[in-house]
Amino acid sequence: MRRIGVYAKSNEKSEKVKDRILSFIKEKGLIFDNDNPEVVFVIGGDGTFLKAANNYLDKIDDIAFIGIKTGHLGYFYDFQEEDIPYVFDHLDSLLKNVTKHLLIKAHLKNKDEESLLHAVNEIRIENPFHTLEAEVFLNGQKFEDFNGNGLMVATSIGSSAYNKSLGGAVVDSSIDIMELTEIATIQSSVHRSLGSSFILAKDSSILFRGDFKNVVVGYDNKTFPIGDFTEIEISLSNKRLSIIRPKDYFKFNVIKASFID
Ligand code: NAP
Ligand code: MN
Repeated sequence: MRRIGVYAKSNEKSEKVKDRILSFIKEKGLIFDNDNPEVVFVIGGDGTFLKAANNYLDKIDDIAFIGIKTGHLGYFYDFQEEDIPYVFDHLDSLLKNVTKHLLIKAHLKNKDEESLLHAVNEIRIENPFHTLEAEVFLNGQKFEDFNGNGLMVATSIGSSAYNKSLGGAVVDSSIDIMELTEIATIQSSVHRSLGSSFILAKDSSILFRGDFKNVVVGYDNKTFPIGDFTEIEISLSNKRLSIIRPKDYFKFNVIKASFID
């Protein structure tokens, strides 16, 4: 019997959809299990989906997520409330129709400590007070000195979020890449960095090094002050986010619907 979890945004509409899903779980003789689920219904918007993925980080490789959207367009959502009966009738076959997306990870380091975090969309460092000065290393080799507001590394599925607002390319979400994008870079006779987004192969590593006082680390919908860390090393994780898609899934639909229609 399949174990089903439910992760809902706390608003009236999402709670109502959650109750509906809980009664379907009962009716179909499935097991409601938020601790060890095989399938997690995520109800809400993109922020909710990012939180759900983060919540199940330890078990993410064994879970298929299905998004039931209750707000406006959701980038991670292919189903709506009216699809719930269909989803429960076809759960086994829908489970064969998942897209998989590598998470991105960062090791924050100084000579005494190390800390690890994961994200779905992107990881970024930003200095809201002064110019961020960072040395950028690619695959262990010095690449450039960056001066500007910040640096961001997105996954392909995150390329349509903050990365796109920064002028980065939108990348087909079925390709595993990392996209390094600059935030308000200074380009002058004194300071010079690439000045465009750089799409890197999936086995690449990106290291930012500097005196990062005043720097804020952001990953998906979370932020925190970097503290005493002086290095942040970013690469793709082995962990994968699996998303259940409809049978007629057109992977560019959400980009079209969000930005063009
Ligand atoms: P938010 O401030 O509510 O989200 C900003 C917008 O990005 C929302 O419209 C959100 O959709 C959308 N979004 C999230 N992931 C996306 C994706 N993969 N592709 C396209 N659009 C996406 O915060 P949030 O909902 O917690 O989302 C966090 C994300 O916000 C971060 O990962 C970052 O990418 C993005 N962000 C964008 C900017 C910017 O564009 N200037 C600045 C900071 C952060 P929903 O409305 O459905 O939530
Ligand atoms: Mn949001």
